[in-house]
Amino acid sequence: SPIPDYLTEVLDVCGGDGSGELAAYIPELAQADPDRFALALATVDGATYAVGDADVAFSIQSISKPFAYALALAEHGLDAVLEKVGVEPSGDAFNELSLEIGTGRPFNPMINAGALTVHALIDDETVRRGFSAFAGRDLELDEEVFTSELETADRNRAIAFMLRSHGIVEKDAQEVVEGYTRQCSLLVTVRDLALMAATLANGGVHPVSGERVVPREVTRQVMAVMATCGMYDAAGDWFTSVGIPAKSGVAGGLIGALPGQAGLATFSPRLDRHGNSVRGVQVFERLSHDMGMHLMEVP
Ligand code: GLN
Repeated sequence: SPIPDYLTEVLDVCGGDGSGELAAYIPELAQADPDRFALALATVDGATYAVGDADVAFSIQSISKPFAYALALAEHGLDAVLEKVGVEPSGDAFNELSLEIGTGRPFNPMINAGALTVHALIDDETVRRGFSAFAGRDLELDEEVFTSELETADRNRAIAFMLRSHGIVEKDAQEVVEGYTRQCSLLVTVRDLALMAATLANGGVHPVSGERVVPREVTRQVMAVMATCGMYDAAGDWFTSVGIPAKSGVAGGLIGALPGQAGLATFSPRLDRHGNSVRGVQVFERLSHDMGMHLMEVP
């Protein structure tokens, strides 16, 4: 197959950019090897391709947000979840203390305020089991990242207490932050992430295991929110240039889900000022351009 050669070429072309910074606000993430670079593609038919540092595991971080949202929607239904979390792009940074005026809801589930609210709707076991089903194998926790982030999670604690004061979160704020931080500390490779994205792209059925992880209508909702909010305050820039529903994480992961076609994932730890992977964004721009993946491209 020419696909691995093509993917390797994309890594070579995008590999030279050394700009961006590691996410130092989580001390353990600042220890990561900044030069790691990997790319994986999983089709809805179950073919997977991975190149570069494809076996290096890293914490899922904010890429957990669409999957937790999917599990909350599957468990509670759309209306109940919408009462707690909206679907409007916030235009703010991922960790902003922002809520919708009037309703007190977080703007969307892709920023921390929304993700903490979503996490409070499901339990830790649902997260671990559900994410493992999305990946098609048992995912493990990075204890060091978990401890390190929990020690420095004051911003998320502030958000969780704010949510409680508005009656959006009812559970204990500290427990919610702890559970959310554990969710963000699950370890994945680009291969796992590509399969998780491909499960969304495939309407909720894992392309290899064949397991139905979430109902089909859930995946439409999740990919739509990824398209509008997945790249935080760079979401508009991203969707016009790349045109694929996506989600980034501060450990350097980035996923894209092409409905009915494939899941893509990259790993490169240096981040731009929005907290999105610098070389990950470049890889996606290139793939979208070369393979005509932009969803607004008129064939
Ligand atoms: N766990 C991180 C946080 O809450 C996730 C942020 C991210 O990946 N953008 O700050």
